[in-house]
Amino acid sequence: MNEKDYLIENIKKLGYECKDSNIELIELFYDELIEWNKKVNLTRITDEKDFIDKHILDSLSCKKVIDKILKDDFKVIDIGTGAGFPLLPLWFFYSDIQITLVDSVNKKLDFIRHFLKVAKEKFETLDISKVKVIHSRAEDLALDKEHREKYDLIVSRALSKLPSLVELAMPFIKIGGLFLAMKIYDVEEEAQGAEKINRLIGGDILEIDKFQLLDTELMRSFVMITKKLKTNRNFPRKAGLAQKAPIV
Ligand code: SAH
Repeated sequence: MNEKDYLIENIKKLGYECKDSNIELIELFYDELIEWNKKVNLTRITDEKDFIDKHILDSLSCKKVIDKILKDDFKVIDIGTGAGFPLLPLWFFYSDIQITLVDSVNKKLDFIRHFLKVAKEKFETLDISKVKVIHSRAEDLALDKEHREKYDLIVSRALSKLPSLVELAMPFIKIGGLFLAMKIYDVEEEAQGAEKINRLIGGDILEIDKFQLLDTELMRSFVMITKKLKTNRNFPRKAGLAQKAPIV
């Protein structure tokens, strides 16, 4: 099976309706990413099959979580998004939701801005007005009242270990909202380490969903935390501390 058929088949297996325009957007994204990766270090995953599995299908696997909580005016933020993972590929399929992509390294965001511009030129009907790209450390942005406790969902992949990640992520979610951390399979120890900060920061039950990604070799865990109480102003602590000195 060629790469394109493999991609389409697996997107459908994840439960998406897959239009030609979705595939064209993913192909454009891949081409632009590979081109930019020559000058800016965006990803080590460049082989097309690997890109499909580890970047596209992995990102799109969040569908099962999103579909349970999706509603009108749904707002999602991705912290430490890098070249846009996981939220940008998700937005290709959920184009009505409002998304905010955050990273502390502006060069990576320049790629996303460039891609959005090229995509808009190529697909005139594409509405990019609901996509915000913000250069900031998560802990600084979380103090901004336009972003603090304003999101229904926060997603993050490969940013930090859970104790730090909980401190960085939870301030962004509304009460009743959800934090979804995309993690490798063996995550129990990390999750245990996050119990203290989760209590301090207003988090509720921590749930782990372990699964194999389709027929790939990738074993994954979704760590999900709902928010019960407002986050105290003391969190997140000063920039850098969540990652340098996690509360465990
Ligand atoms: N989520 C992407 C990138 C992971 S690499 C993926 O899965 O492919 C981690 C990213 O987090 C890097 O791009 C780095 O610049 C960013 N980052 C690290 N600390 C951060 C912080 N405190 N706030 C925002 N972004 C941060």
